[in-house]
Amino acid sequence: MTKITFHGAARTVTGSKYLLEAGGVRVLVDCGLFQGIKKLRLRNWEPTPFAVDQLDAVVLTHAHLDHTGYLPRLVKEGYRRKIHATPATRALAEIILLDSAKCQESDAKYANRKGYSKHEPALPLYDGRDVELTLKQFHETPRGKWYSPAEPIWMRHHDAGHLLGSSMIEVEIRDQNPPLRLLFSGDVGRYDGPLYFDPAPAPECDYLICESTYGDRDHPETDILDSLEKVVHRAVDRGGVMLIASFAIGRAQQLIYLLQVLKQEKRIPDLAIYLDSPMSCNATTVYRQFQDDHDLSEGELDAAHPVLAGPRVHLCRTTEESKALNHLQGPAIILASSGMMTGGRIVHHLKQRLPHANNTIVLGGYMAAGTRGRRLQDGAETLRMHGIEIPVLAAIETVSGLSGHADRSGLLRWLEPLTKPRKVFLTHGEPHSSDALADQLHHQHGWDVHCPELGETAELV
Ligand SMILES: [Zn+2]
Repeated sequence: MTKITFHGAARTVTGSKYLLEAGGVRVLVDCGLFQGIKKLRLRNWEPTPFAVDQLDAVVLTHAHLDHTGYLPRLVKEGYRRKIHATPATRALAEIILLDSAKCQESDAKYANRKGYSKHEPALPLYDGRDVELTLKQFHETPRGKWYSPAEPIWMRHHDAGHLLGSSMIEVEIRDQNPPLRLLFSGDVGRYDGPLYFDPAPAPECDYLICESTYGDRDHPETDILDSLEKVVHRAVDRGGVMLIASFAIGRAQQLIYLLQVLKQEKRIPDLAIYLDSPMSCNATTVYRQFQDDHDLSEGELDAAHPVLAGPRVHLCRTTEESKALNHLQGPAIILASSGMMTGGRIVHHLKQRLPHANNTIVLGGYMAAGTRGRRLQDGAETLRMHGIEIPVLAAIETVSGLSGHADRSGLLRWLEPLTKPRKVFLTHGEPHSSDALADQLHHQHGWDVHCPELGETAELV
């Protein structure tokens, strides 16, 4: 009997964890952290909902925290077997998990200082040592090759086009003839997204477990190069610094690539770019290592403008390098995280640049309610930072079109060639998104679609 249990990313977008049981073995697909509202985050602290010592393997679709961030906790609870991932996923997961441990440790410290934890003293969900142990358990699995994490389960990774190293996972349960076939979509990337290849064609399957983040909507039609070009021109006319709020992993690298293309095509001046985030610098180094994974079809680059390097691209790792940027005269570009301006080095840059009308602050897309990014997007006249109200005189611009997820049309395009599976499970979406896509697949294709609840088990026969 083959069974799957949805221990995360069910009726929500985070905490991806799918337990696959077949032929007496158990394999966990993804091991993500719940993020967002408190009710979800508290789930990370509940006892692991399956027996860790009976788990035979973990496999990862990609490195994002909502797919990997629970791994160190699993290891802390005694998991000692392999964690299968593509080489680029392993490299990015190392950066993401070490950063996550730091956040967990500082959260615990903060709780102790404020005395609001139920535990005395408050402990982190995991720490750097747990991450070091976790990293030792990684086992690199190249895309396109069959392997068995535990017999009779066989798997093969294909490019999902969502992040460097990201994969969809094709599964065969080989204790029957013909084998039972499953497909885990992972996070499906966008068609024609900069720096990533298109998602690979979906392999035929009996059961499909598919994400549905944007199952109810389409991204606005924008040519990202055109809109970025216009924003840069306006920033150059203002004469000051262009400060881009950017997620450390993935988004920052896509932006540097697009800026290099615009520079090489002489659509914008050859401005200096400063990447001011140690985590983002480390990720950029990983991106440079995996050049063959880049889709450079937005523009062929010459030697003067390599994709993520070159004399005008500066990686600022140290605090001194970051502070030196306070004296930077425009026009120039600073990319800093966090993407929604909730913390990180961008806060210092905002303090420095917001009160001057010659500067430009660029928001990189979706800003969640309650974040500084959203307040700027909503036209705030002042912004509170480190206890002080800072006047907003700089121009505020938004560059959208860099979401890493396929929208509804993209998902339908990816699913289009598939022969009707026996059943489709829609995960990794808020209920309104998953339900809308379920309706569409049911009515347009006649597919049997189900949106599982958290903790639900389905038998696959
Ligand atoms: Zn993702």
